[in-house]
Amino acid sequence: MLSFCNNYPNKWVVDLALTHKSLHGGEYHVAVFNHVSFDQHEQVVFCHDKESGLKAIIAIHNTNLGPAVGGCRMWNYQSDDEALNDVLRLSKGMTYKNALAGLKMGGGKSVIIADPKTKDREALFRAFGRFIDSLGGRYYSAEDVGTTTADIMIAHQETPYMAGLEGKSGDPSPFTALGTFLGIKAAVKHQRGLDSLAGLKISVQGVGHVGYYLCKQLHQAGAELIVTDIHQASLDRVAAEFGATVVAPQDIYTQDVDVYAPCALGATINDTTLPLLKASIVAGCANNQLAEPQHGQQLTDMGILYAPDYVINAGGIINVSFDDHYDEAQSTAKVNQIYDTLLKIFQQAEEQSRPTGEIADEMAQAIIESAAQ
Ligand code: NAD
Repeated sequence: MLSFCNNYPNKWVVDLALTHKSLHGGEYHVAVFNHVSFDQHEQVVFCHDKESGLKAIIAIHNTNLGPAVGGCRMWNYQSDDEALNDVLRLSKGMTYKNALAGLKMGGGKSVIIADPKTKDREALFRAFGRFIDSLGGRYYSAEDVGTTTADIMIAHQETPYMAGLEGKSGDPSPFTALGTFLGIKAAVKHQRGLDSLAGLKISVQGVGHVGYYLCKQLHQAGAELIVTDIHQASLDRVAAEFGATVVAPQDIYTQDVDVYAPCALGATINDTTLPLLKASIVAGCANNQLAEPQHGQQLTDMGILYAPDYVINAGGIINVSFDDHYDEAQSTAKVNQIYDTLLKIFQQAEEQSRPTGEIADEMAQAIIESAAQ
C-alpha cells in the first residue's frame, strides 16, 4: 500500500518505509527498493510543498548508533533519479562516517532539487524544516553543498532537529578542512615517512567552503598548490592569498603532483580519470569520490594510496556533534583523531594488500553491528 501522510495542508510526505506497490488499487512502480544505491535504508521520504515549490528527498540509512545525522544538499539535479541516487549514497556514507568517527549518531542525508543559487530561500527552507520536524527527531539535518548556515537557521525556526547552528558549532567547513589536512599528512607519513608537507605539490579540485580552508593550511605547511574550480572568484581568492597556480577543470587530473585532493563533487575517480592520474595519493574532502567500488581496487593496483572519503572528511560532522554543549577544544581534539584512524586503515590495507576503502568499511560495519546487539 502506498502510504501518503498528510501532515500539513498541501504538503505531502510519501514514506517509502511503508510503501509497496499499489496506488488506487493498481500497480505502481517504486524504483527505490531495487535501486542500485539502495542498501537496507530504513526510511526514504519524498517531500513536496506546493506553496514554496520545495521538492526534497530525505534518506535515513541506519539508526543503530543513534538518530540519523547528515547535511542537506541543494543541487540542480537533472532528474529525480539522480537526486535519489545521491541521497541514497550520501546517507549510507554518513552511517559509516559517523561510526568510524566514534559518534553516537546514525546516518542520513537530504537533498533539495533546486538551483543552489535560488535567491528567495525563506519559504523553501521553512517548508523543509517542517518536513524534518515531521520525522520527530529520527533525522537531524545540517549544511552541505549548496546550503548555508543561514538556510539551516531558517529551517530551525520550524524544528529543533537541525545541527550546525549559529552560536553553537556553526560552519562545519573549517573542521572538515582540518580533518582533510590531517588526512593528507597521515597519507604522506604512511607512504613516504615524512612529517612535513613542505615542498610537496598538491592539486585541489574545488576551492569552495572546505577547499579554501584546506588551501590555507596546506599553504601554511609549505605545500605548492595547483587548483581548479568552475567559480572564478573562488579561484582568484586562493591564487591571490596562497599563490596557487590555477588550471582548467579538465586539466586537474593530469597535473604532476604528489597529492590529488578532490574537494568538489563526487565520482571524480572513474574509468576516464584514473589513467590520467600522476599523484600517488588521493586524499580530499569530497563525498563519494569513487564512481564505483572497483575503482578502490584499481587505485591499489596502481600503487595510489587512497584516504577513504568518509573517514578523511568527518571533521565537520564531528564538530556538529558538539552542538548541544559546544566546546571548540574538545571538538578539535576529536577531529585530530582522524590522523590516527587513517594511519590504522593504511597499515591494515598494506598488511592485507587490500583497498583502504574495504578496510574502512569493515571497521565501520563492526561498530554499527555491535551497536545493534
Ligand atoms: P562548496 O559548494 O562550497 O564547494 C565546492 C566547490 O567545487 C565550489 O567552489 C564549486 O564551484 C566547485 N566545483 C563544482 N563542480 C566543479 C568541477 N566540475 N570542477 C571544479 N570545481 C567544481 O562545497 P563544500 O562545502 O566545500 O564541500 C566540498 C565537498 O566536500 C563536497 O563533496 C561535500 O559533500 C564534501 N563535504 C563537505 C563538508 C563541509 O563541512 N562543508 C563536510 C564533509 C564533506
